[in-house]
Amino acid sequence: MTQAEIVFHNTLSGKKETFVPANPEHVSIYVCGPTVYSFVHIGNGRPAVVFDVLTRLLRTRYPKVSYVSNITDIDDKINAAAASNGEDIKTLADRYSRAYQEDVAALGVRPPDVVPKATHHIAEIIDMIETLIEKDHAYASEGHVLFHVPSDPEYGSLSKRSLEDMIDGARVEVAGYKKDPKDFVLWKPSTEDQPGWDSPWGRGRPGWHIECSAMVKKHLGDTIDIHGGGSDLTFPHHENEAAQSRCANDDSGYVRYWLHNGMLNLGTEKMSKSVGNVLTIRGLLEKHSSEVLRYALLSGQYSSSLTWSDDLLAQARASLDSLYQGLRDVADTNPLTSTDMEKLAQEEFPETVVNALCDDLNTPKALAAMHELAADMRRTTDEAAKAAARNQLLAGGWLLGLLYQNAEDYFTQGQPGDSAAPTADAIEALIAERKAARADGDYAGADRIRDELLAAGIELEDSREGTRWRKI
Ligand SMILES: [Zn+2]
Repeated sequence: MTQAEIVFHNTLSGKKETFVPANPEHVSIYVCGPTVYSFVHIGNGRPAVVFDVLTRLLRTRYPKVSYVSNITDIDDKINAAAASNGEDIKTLADRYSRAYQEDVAALGVRPPDVVPKATHHIAEIIDMIETLIEKDHAYASEGHVLFHVPSDPEYGSLSKRSLEDMIDGARVEVAGYKKDPKDFVLWKPSTEDQPGWDSPWGRGRPGWHIECSAMVKKHLGDTIDIHGGGSDLTFPHHENEAAQSRCANDDSGYVRYWLHNGMLNLGTEKMSKSVGNVLTIRGLLEKHSSEVLRYALLSGQYSSSLTWSDDLLAQARASLDSLYQGLRDVADTNPLTSTDMEKLAQEEFPETVVNALCDDLNTPKALAAMHELAADMRRTTDEAAKAAARNQLLAGGWLLGLLYQNAEDYFTQGQPGDSAAPTADAIEALIAERKAARADGDYAGADRIRDELLAAGIELEDSREGTRWRKI
């Protein structure tokens, strides 16, 4: 098969571009992670899942991919949450940092190669600020250090904002220590009760934007291939990150491809803590399986916004049911394991799924291709061809981080929100009773058992291999 080119919508150019890594032997990707001051919401799960699929795809094609995704563990919101709990800042940040990692792991996200924390990179941050001052892109003033925006002629090239938008975006009344209203903070002074580190400018703490610039440089170098994050980070966070890095680093390229995922909406509004309309991953996992949540997140193209609703979740479950039903119907001969998938060559993955993902990570198209594969598998009567189709489906599932459960378990274990159902033993006993009733010609009795089970949320299905059941 001819290998499809990978194409991304690059925020920097505003166009779709063919992906050409700086070094095909080693691809680098950095994604901005969350600020950890409470449990994360499903909107925070979207970049984690989207860029997990992207790294899975890249790893089938390039020999080495380094994926770094940070955690912001120093922030005024963390300070405020810790103060209101009467808790130590580090204890709170560590707890929610662990919770975030557990939550996204539950969504099938494989851990990035490095998960750097801002507080472990204070020396690198101070170094970069000193370089910016030396190069006349930053200045110290009243215990603060500020990046001087007019010193960077390319400022604004990523977000393409007008000057007025940028000033609005800064959302601060112009402080006396700023030379220009657009100048932003690299370092700020800390009071006694705030976390702080000694620096050439006194005891203080870093601004948010410089943390990512310093962590990217330390773990991936001056120029990286892909930088991802939510579209709400394009301005000011990524614009500022880009300005800092191109002005501080010797190599002025910084990021070759900027990829931004769209926001998750609940009703007509963006899901956000400030609006107060958030659904935590933890809360959703009490009612839905993690695989349904992942399927729902992948059902929209990453760069568009996605409206989260009960309908979306119901559709995701029905779609997964259909794929698993296909797998359940095929004899379990020599299925691929996830370790096998790691070793598959590019051409062993289903071409239609790979091509959809190569097209700017078009996951809805990839999911449609998965359903096509399942339909082909059902239509085939040849057993060997069926088994081969099954492995293709599983390989496509691996790329998307789906179909990792045993199909039988998928149906018999049900999902967290399902009504309390009889135990498997009780169900099997009733199925045996129904079989006996039918053998005796007591069809009314057999139907009554089927209806009772249905009322308890168990659907029976008579197949060649006998009667199977599923939770509904
Ligand atoms: Zn960042």
